[in-house]
Amino acid sequence: MVFYAQTGRCRWRVLLEHLEGESAVERCGHCDNCLRIARQEKVLERAEHEQAARIEVDDRPPRAMFAAGDVVTVKRYGRGQVKQATADEVTVVFTDGALRTFQPEYVKKARKGPDGVIDRRRSNSPVAMRDEPASARKLRAQQSLT
Ligand SMILES: [Zn+2]
Repeated sequence: MVFYAQTGRCRWRVLLEHLEGESAVERCGHCDNCLRIARQEKVLERAEHEQAARIEVDDRPPRAMFAAGDVVTVKRYGRGQVKQATADEVTVVFTDGALRTFQPEYVKKARKGPDGVIDRRRSNSPVAMRDEPASARKLRAQQSLT
């Protein structure tokens, strides 16, 4: 009876096993241990579901806001064309030939209209993550030729 009191298994089944040597019943579903097991399983099941849902979201690749060839404007630098874009950075070729990489939040799709219209809603001043002037590119091109 000490085992009966201490076991975490279904009390009904333990009792039946004790009396009959073997029980066909897996669980009664009503004793305190069965209720506790059912609660744990429900929590575990829910955690697994939530984990699966989270992984599903994480697996989805972040969508790039811009595509190569998009005409965009960047405050301070002006109008340019997207060379390549990921969800994290946008590389823009400017009219002067310079190649600059920005965080997507600093890059705006160019609308038809006059250049140089300042969008005052954006208070952040753009900072190029990489700033490669045209002269540097020419120099590199020359170096690769030699
Ligand atoms: Zn039970």
